Amino acid sequence: MHGPAPAMLVLLPSVAELSMRCLLVADLHYSLPQLDWVAQAAHRYDVTILAGDLLDLASMVDFEAQILVAQRYVRKIAASTRLILSSGNHDLDAPGPDGEKIAAWFGDLAEDGVVLDGGSLVQGDTLFTVCPWWDGPATRERIEAQIAADALRRPARWIWVHHAPPKESPVSWTGKASLGDPELAAWIERYAPDIVLSGHVHQSPFVRDGSWADRIGSTWVFNAGHQYGAPPAHIVIDTQVGQALWISAMGLQAVALDQPLERPIAPLPRMPEWFMATLEAGPTPA
Ligand SMILES: [Zn+2]
Repeated sequence: MHGPAPAMLVLLPSVAELSMRCLLVADLHYSLPQLDWVAQAAHRYDVTILAGDLLDLASMVDFEAQILVAQRYVRKIAASTRLILSSGNHDLDAPGPDGEKIAAWFGDLAEDGVVLDGGSLVQGDTLFTVCPWWDGPATRERIEAQIAADALRRPARWIWVHHAPPKESPVSWTGKASLGDPELAAWIERYAPDIVLSGHVHQSPFVRDGSWADRIGSTWVFNAGHQYGAPPAHIVIDTQVGQALWISAMGLQAVALDQPLERPIAPLPRMPEWFMATLEAGPTPA
């Protein structure tokens, strides 16, 4: 009859279970300095998301050679973090079962624990649904089925990874037009995921009326944008702190995930404390 009352000990999820720190980058377009940066930064994050266009169809480097090098980077990154890799339009190398192009070179990486197109990841109280680039109706229908299936087991937080951002959003605005995906916009309206992680429209965060963050209903949508050199423009999400932080050549901005989105998003004068702790934490990678 000694010791603390049992009620003191039960059932509160630990901070470790609730806390998840994610790194989002996309559109690296076979930039080796950016791949090197991700490879050395990824160990600080529970989950790292490469949301499409790892390769570059317009590069001088032979596409097959790009694939071999990219696979090596992906394996290296996957050794230090939980890695999600979704395809973008620059990643498609071969026809899939329906004759539509897919990132067939992703296939081997499943053995390295990478969560790929069509896959999902449960991390704590969060479900990630990882969508391929859809190059035709068959792949689009597979995404629809994938989302519908994951909706049935939706936990506290549901995050989609989808290279193209939704149409008619600041995160898909080029400065002249929206290059977003109307289908994704409809799926967001229907299922209201908590967060959608995308890329694809490189200039959105850097042009007037564009942004790295948007809110569609209750859904947060992010696109870090593209810049040259290392580090790539990137977004860090911390579920415990409840913030998404955008880091780019434009400086720092953050949004509070449990608050309404207010525009313009104010720049931060300095790195937030919680993020400084991230930078200092963790072992130095080999
Ligand atoms: Zn791109």
